[in-house]
Amino acid sequence: MFLLFGTTLRRSLLVTVVFICGYCDKNVPQGVEKLSTKFTLFFIPLFTVSSRYSNQCTNCGGVTDLTREQAEHAVARQG
Ligand SMILES: [Zn+2]
Repeated sequence: MFLLFGTTLRRSLLVTVVFICGYCDKNVPQGVEKLSTKFTLFFIPLFTVSSRYSNQCTNCGGVTDLTREQAEHAVARQG
């Protein structure tokens, strides 16, 4: 039997929060993203293998890695 499997990376924007960027030192919106690596079978995503979080500055594009707790805190603060 022929099996076609692999992984795919999915990005999703969780929330946008405004704080002072560590790169450009400006108080601008930062997009908090979840990056999920999904296991795929015949190009159909089945389950998440790993996920990580990051935020990206809308001013300078600087990316900072976040912990899951930091990302969840950002979402909770927004809601
Ligand atoms: Zn910045």
